[in-house]
Amino acid sequence: MAPNQSPWLAQLNRTRPVTALSDNIATDVAIVGGGIAGIMTAYFILRDTDKKVVILEADKVAHGATGHNAGQITSYFERPLSTLVEQFGLDMATRGQEAIESGWALLDTVHEEANLTTNMYRFTGHAGVTTLEQLLVHLENNWCRSESRRLDLESILVAEEASYLKQIPAKYVNLYATLPHRDILALMETRNTAYTAVVSYQKGCTNSALLAEELAGYMLAMYKDRFVLYEGSPVSNVVLGEHEGVLHSLKHTVTAQRVILCTNGFENFTITNEHGRDINGGFHHAVQGTVGYMAGYVEPLNRDPVAISYFPKSIAYDDEPYYYLTRRPHDVGDLPAGRQETHQHNLVCIGGPEKKLDDAAIYSREEIYEESIRDEIDMFLHANYEHAADQHTQYAFLWHGLMGYTTSGVRLIGPEPLNSVLMYNLGCNGVGILPSIYGGKRISEIVAGKEVEPSMFDPKESTMDV
Ligand SMILES: Cc1cc2nc3c(=O)[nH]c(=O)nc-3n(C[C@H](O)[C@H](O)[C@H](O)COP(=O)(O)OP(=O)(O)OC[C@H]3O[C@@H](n4cnc5c(N)ncnc54)[C@H](O)[C@@H]3O)c2cc1C
Repeated sequence: MAPNQSPWLAQLNRTRPVTALSDNIATDVAIVGGGIAGIMTAYFILRDTDKKVVILEADKVAHGATGHNAGQITSYFERPLSTLVEQFGLDMATRGQEAIESGWALLDTVHEEANLTTNMYRFTGHAGVTTLEQLLVHLENNWCRSESRRLDLESILVAEEASYLKQIPAKYVNLYATLPHRDILALMETRNTAYTAVVSYQKGCTNSALLAEELAGYMLAMYKDRFVLYEGSPVSNVVLGEHEGVLHSLKHTVTAQRVILCTNGFENFTITNEHGRDINGGFHHAVQGTVGYMAGYVEPLNRDPVAISYFPKSIAYDDEPYYYLTRRPHDVGDLPAGRQETHQHNLVCIGGPEKKLDDAAIYSREEIYEESIRDEIDMFLHANYEHAADQHTQYAFLWHGLMGYTTSGVRLIGPEPLNSVLMYNLGCNGVGILPSIYGGKRISEIVAGKEVEPSMFDPKESTMDV
């Protein structure tokens, strides 16, 4: 049994003391939650408007899912694009996909503008599939991409030797290529011959906690007179009026013209709407809480960064747990004082095992990490990743984090229909880094009074039945 220890938090080197709310204050925009969603939302509002912004964070910046994820920068939804097309129509669904992919450019811009030093790696990532059924899902997604004329195609490569090759419908003929099975296995870095096709697209890696923390520091320095960050300041109640909201935290209040929830989905506060019908604030009842487990080990810096997902035969599609691996350079700490050079290794992280929670409110970050989960990951690693050591792997990090799945699997970004003082940029849905960044930009446009096109991320009146 091990404590919950993430490599991302281990890399934080913050010296800033925690400052909690200690007075009643007023601001233009109050953001609840200091994960990547809250930090990015604050950044775009500060950059693109003249509004004053306050963040209230119950714990410390980036100590939620942002500090306990896999650190993979990726743009897919945890449900097939084709099903989003069925739900929202081709135009809206593919605009939504394009919006998430725009997060890449936004991330680059933020990185440059704020002179961030947090490492980001970008490369082609791979997902290996084992059955015709899985492959057809990806081909149909690619067909939607091609029909939309606004999205790049994913590269889909199928083994010439695949037994199902002749069963692939003619409709998809231009959407994949074939090549020898051994080349598929090489891309997947596996000797497991069950993987007979590979889907490749742009992916990347970063430490989203370090990124959020660094950006918080930048905003505190850059926008001294317009930005305040309170940590250790849980919000217990939000009261919404016609033109403003009042947030209650630690016996004090923050009054703001806009209140933006960037709480991932697991807030523990009540929302009282004094200007309109009741808003059900119990997200944690509507959002399925799922604990994701990860393990990471360090090895010599002898391979390029990569991200690979593995879909074994038992999986119909990625709404079921699947394994994913990332590899990226990692600074190993413990250098003697005064030595400046970095001590780079590769960090290999593997995730997959999940546990669904009946009530996400019962999740504890302090919960210990069961050995059986580490063993499960280790077994997967040795059966699938060709570079795994011969023996059991010594994991330097074992960690877990809470993910929230809305029933639609789509993030909520925008104003609450029952009272637009309240806005959302939340709903982790397994992949949250790029969606949070895009969400922050869209929220800032709405706050600036810009007309935005309707989108599949718009909260509906039944928001709370997401
Ligand atoms: C195991 C795991 C693996 C993942 N892997 C990936 C991945 O590879 N790629 C990817 O893109 N995404 C991944 N995700 C999802 C991604 O990490 C999240 O979607 C993203 O970090 C969410 O950011 P956030 O700011 O919305 O939420 P969080 O980081 O959880 O931040 C929300 C913050 O709100 C605060 N808060 C909540 N309630 C209150 C309150 N009442 N008052 C004040 N503050 C409050 C919390 O303390 C928290 O700090 C993964 C998640 C997990 C758990």
